[in-house]
Amino acid sequence: MKYKKICPICGAHFETNNDQTVYCGHSCKVEAKRARDREYQRNKREQASESRRQYREEYERARLSEIAERDRKSKEDFERRCAEGDVRALLIREKAQHGNSTRRYWELFAQCVIDDAERIGTVSRVVVNGISVYDDCFADAVLESIEERGHIVAELGRKSK
Ligand SMILES: [Zn+2]
Repeated sequence: MKYKKICPICGAHFETNNDQTVYCGHSCKVEAKRARDREYQRNKREQASESRRQYREEYERARLSEIAERDRKSKEDFERRCAEGDVRALLIREKAQHGNSTRRYWELFAQCVIDDAERIGTVSRVVVNGISVYDDCFADAVLESIEERGHIVAELGRKSK
């Protein structure tokens, strides 16, 4: 019995005795195998690039959650320092919450500067708008001078002042 077929590679019409025959001849059979191999290689490449993409995504997720965790820890650390009365932390928080034109900000500022100087066994020479941080009325005087001048100048005064 003869079967009439159409070769899926070259489109030729051909007759064959074997119903299992798919291709018109050897060269189309080889070409079909090459096409299958190419397809196989392409799938393999796609799978590899997909798994690389997944790996990158997972890595990025892990990295972001690590950063979030670190942020959370440093925030906790900062809150703990504030609760313990750490002057520098309180100063940073005061500025973030209320800016640098509150009495509390300048009180904390003076305390922070004086503490820093004491820690290294010296006397601070910081003056703000001409007012020494050791001035008893430092915070009020600075606020008044900010109102008068409209700006803040922090500088290092002379020791002999
Ligand atoms: Zn063919």
